[in-house]
Amino acid sequence: MNPDSLKFGQQPGFLPTELPGLDTLTELALDLQWSWNHAADALWQQLDAELWDRTHNPWIVLQTASREALKQHLADPAFQGQMAALMAHKQAAAARPKWFQQQHPESPLRCVAYFSMEYMLSEALPIYVGGLGNVAGDQLKSASDLGVPVVAVGLLYQQGYFRQEIDRQGAQQARFPYNDPGQLPITPLRLPNGEWLRLPITLSGFPVWLRTWQVRVGGVMLYLLDSNDAANLPVHRGITAELYGGGMELRIQQEIVLGMGGWQLLRALGIAPEVCHLNEGHAAFVVLARARTFMQETGLSFEAALAVTRPGNLFTTHTAVAAGFDHFSPALLEQFLGDYARQELGIPFDTLLTLGRHPGNPAESFNMALLAIRGCGAVNGVSQLHGEVSRQLFGGLFPRWPTAEVPIGHVTNGVHMPSWDSEAADAIWTTACGKERWRGGLDTLAENIRQVPDDALWELRTSCRQELVAYTRARLARQFLVAGHSPELVAVAGQVFDDRTLTLGFARRFVAYKRPNLLLHNPERFIRLLTNPEQPVQLVLAGKAPPSDEIGKALIQQWTQFIAEHNLHQHVVFLSDYDMLMAEHLVQGVDVWLNTPRRPWEACGTSGMKVLVNGGLNLSELDGWWAEAYTPAVGWALGDGQQHANDPAQDAAEADALYTLLETQVVPEFYARDAQGIPARWVERMRRSMATLTPQFSANRTVRQYTQDYYLPAATRYAQRAANQGAAGAAIVRQRQQIASEWDKLEFGELQTESVANSYQFHVPLRLGILTPDQVLVELYAQGFPGTAAQRIPLQPAAAPTADGYLHYQALVTTPRPATDFTARVVPAYKGVAVPLEDQRILWQR
Ligand SMILES: *Cc1c(COP(=O)(O)O)cnc(C)c1O
Repeated sequence: MNPDSLKFGQQPGFLPTELPGLDTLTELALDLQWSWNHAADALWQQLDAELWDRTHNPWIVLQTASREALKQHLADPAFQGQMAALMAHKQAAAARPKWFQQQHPESPLRCVAYFSMEYMLSEALPIYVGGLGNVAGDQLKSASDLGVPVVAVGLLYQQGYFRQEIDRQGAQQARFPYNDPGQLPITPLRLPNGEWLRLPITLSGFPVWLRTWQVRVGGVMLYLLDSNDAANLPVHRGITAELYGGGMELRIQQEIVLGMGGWQLLRALGIAPEVCHLNEGHAAFVVLARARTFMQETGLSFEAALAVTRPGNLFTTHTAVAAGFDHFSPALLEQFLGDYARQELGIPFDTLLTLGRHPGNPAESFNMALLAIRGCGAVNGVSQLHGEVSRQLFGGLFPRWPTAEVPIGHVTNGVHMPSWDSEAADAIWTTACGKERWRGGLDTLAENIRQVPDDALWELRTSCRQELVAYTRARLARQFLVAGHSPELVAVAGQVFDDRTLTLGFARRFVAYKRPNLLLHNPERFIRLLTNPEQPVQLVLAGKAPPSDEIGKALIQQWTQFIAEHNLHQHVVFLSDYDMLMAEHLVQGVDVWLNTPRRPWEACGTSGMKVLVNGGLNLSELDGWWAEAYTPAVGWALGDGQQHANDPAQDAAEADALYTLLETQVVPEFYARDAQGIPARWVERMRRSMATLTPQFSANRTVRQYTQDYYLPAATRYAQRAANQGAAGAAIVRQRQQIASEWDKLEFGELQTESVANSYQFHVPLRLGILTPDQVLVELYAQGFPGTAAQRIPLQPAAAPTADGYLHYQALVTTPRPATDFTARVVPAYKGVAVPLEDQRILWQR
């Protein structure tokens, strides 16, 4: 069944469906494309300007509009014309071949299924917390732009993540408004006969119904699951209530719904993806469900089925510390998946447990990231530095392998530029680079944007800053009013900031490792910086602390009290309830975006990338993406590029460095104006940052990289293994078993070297037992020097073993290094298998 052929019903009866043209409006309102393509904004504005401004949710605007208003607008020829033009544009865009179809017309890749616990697509669909959801949402949008065949799977939360209020004492209060599905731009997923698609799963012996929904994101479909079905027990109806809420028992159920329910949903729609992309380990149960389907189709064992499906799975890890992974106790896993292992997978429960544990550690809890690695054919971190950190974090899965060879690569995240650019920035980029600039290769963007004249860039900065100041005033006044502050203070809120003042921004989760209070290290020095009469500075802050994180909440209050105590409202504003819509305003308006994490905890970070397209500059710790983006020409860097753990002395030193950077570089450069009132050096920095960094840190680049480096090879490898009822998978299991049983019998003899001219002839005797030379790879290995890669040189076997049973391997090596730097090693090498990911064996000669 093709999902597009399903007839998708609308929400129950709020709309007067008989009005001609309403179906067109409905179709426009239900396509989240409006979250980045602002062509339809005027339409919604006409229907209800205030509601549109407040929610940016066309679906709510449409549902709220009176029958008379709808009737009147739909009868208005001008309105009709706008609607028709939008539909024509939408249809033409859908029909146009996209980057993927042009670049890979013969590709075996038909479908990538993307799994994520959260998606940040629009403030109108609050099913996200922050960074992880941002990555998922922005990649879906770019996949739509590029025509990469992705479908996505997630959860619909009745409450989502908490909403933040700042009370009169400046403390965070958590609110949980209900996400009314009727107000969200989603529709129930209906079967052709009109029945709502509901899926039964089993949790702890109980049948649980999952409801299904769909969200249209341009050309990409996002399917959501929730458990709030009237047929369920109350305890089960709440499984999908809160994002990252509750304890581990709730979490494992959510992850079963996501991974296993999600897989079942795809099957019910007749979607058979070649590639499953796991955005973080939460979704790792999908690898079990996918293997089980292959078992059912072929009769293979679980081990063989996993060997077939594994290369079709990709795991992206986003965590920089071991404590960040989800762990479940063996008892909890047994409760929810014990029967599943035995009955559905045909394996003892202990075998399932070992998939989530380090080798030979039977005391460990079950780690979802380890399951993901065991179940995927490729693994990547989300920045170059995070790739390195991840190779260390997961080194324990690959005992005796050099860290550099731990099979984890990286794809640096990027952001969906059309979602984050301001109207003014969009205009500049469109003039310089054309309307289709984010839909294909990005090769010409840098050169074109470099041509934009100084005054246009400075005008962009000025107008964006003005908008942010206006937004901040309105928002803060409302926030103070709601909190019950005095009318005087509310009036002050309506007057904060200044249009011409250097504007800094800091918004992200308030957790200790992000050091959101670094600027408060020396309050006097900071106040002097802010209130310098010639060269003032203003700072807008936002961010939520996890509701149970007392330290994070205290960090927020430290800021709000600092502002109140020193009466700094003119210069520092803390805005409550950071969300996507606010993020848009902030990243469009600030001159400089600050980020102060403790290296290497920020796996990537994306908010700083959002200012690039708007001509904002970054001042950030050399962590995550900034460690690879920074050059002195494009921004400012904090830290020495080393790790310092949780060291107060280092924090103090970096706070000092931050003040000094601001005092001696950032502020003077911003206020150094030429005769036209333009800060020439600043503008040159903007130009370089826009030209070199914007394309590089766009989700367009990220998604093309995933497609070419991961999705396409994964689809090919999966097809090879799946052919002939998974014959290759079964063969791999046989080979692996044979190698396993013989491995301990492998034995190196004495390595010998002869000097030959300026080279060495290495001789390495190796007893292979019953293994054949084509089942192993024998290499010389020499450690690299700092900053250089290790040397690996394949050794060639003699035609036959000698009488003592040794097969002699040799190689002639020309090297300036002493022969003693080299040792020999042997690793498995059988057809198609990825070593060490799929087989970790390695034997060193010494
Ligand atoms: C971009 C964004 C994030 C992620 O930003 P980081 O720099 O990775 O912390 C979080 N929340 C919102 C609302 C965002 O827009």
